[in-house]
Amino acid sequence: MPIPIRSCIACRKRENFSELLRVVQVGNQVLPDQDHRKFGRGAWLHRNCFDVAKQRRSFQRAFRCDEDLSTDSLENYLNT
Ligand SMILES: [Zn+2]
Repeated sequence: MPIPIRSCIACRKRENFSELLRVVQVGNQVLPDQDHRKFGRGAWLHRNCFDVAKQRRSFQRAFRCDEDLSTDSLENYLNT
């Protein structure tokens, strides 16, 4: 089976999906989806790219969302 390749939403580098963290938009929040089981539109990024993604509003772009999305839960997850 071919390995699924995904692009990081911050640096756009293409990567084996196991190297990336899947995140989903739930309401106005961006949440980590470590089991790949959450519903909703998903996006992928390197854990190290979170700060860049936040600065560049990559989440809004990835989820095609004009409103501000809260990344607090994701940030807490990455910091633990
Ligand atoms: Zn990246």
